[in-house]
Amino acid sequence: MQHKNFVLVLGAQSSGKSTQAKLLAEYIGYKFISTGKLLRRLSEADNPIGKKLSQFWIKGNLVPDELMEEILYPILERVDTAGFVLDGYPRNVEQLRDFLAFLNMKDWLVVHVFYLDVSEEECMRRIKIRAETEKRLDETEDAIKTRLAIYHQETEPLLKEYENMGVLRKIDGEKSIEDIQSDLQSFFMN
Ligand code: AMP
Repeated sequence: MQHKNFVLVLGAQSSGKSTQAKLLAEYIGYKFISTGKLLRRLSEADNPIGKKLSQFWIKGNLVPDELMEEILYPILERVDTAGFVLDGYPRNVEQLRDFLAFLNMKDWLVVHVFYLDVSEEECMRRIKIRAETEKRLDETEDAIKTRLAIYHQETEPLLKEYENMGVLRKIDGEKSIEDIQSDLQSFFMN
């Protein structure tokens, strides 16, 4: 099977990770996957899986790890690409452990993890703007609180793991979209 590289983009809600991950994927020719967007799209289907998924994300809770794997891993296996830029996965230590075991089995590699560093105040400011414009179902006040708490408790601890793996790249996420993107792209220049 074809070798695949993985680039992960990590950051708090409204850190700009989706925007940056998408642009970077275009630049390096990898497939972009946002697990949040994937779940929102699957939830639109009028079937039991769609309804089940909505129960979790609309309230701001994580979709259970096994279900997330059942959805994501077949896509990673099926899509014919030199690599993926993932936005929103892994989200906790269990997902990371399973993901690394899966990659190891395939001989695939995590090459960079970009952490977009944005202050809590700036994230809150952006979340409020986005909640008014996008009207996402999980951007009610309660769901936002839950999502931020999960981010701090479950996702942030992954930074330490990535640092130990030697793949963590900390990026100033408060620069302009263009400047952040060129910081990311600089890791792919020879
Ligand atoms: P995001 O667009 O990345 O903020 O994700 C929106 C929502 O999708 C999250 O609040 C979770 O409910 C769900 N979600 C996204 N990625 C994952 C994941 N890796 N594991 C579980 N739930 C996820």
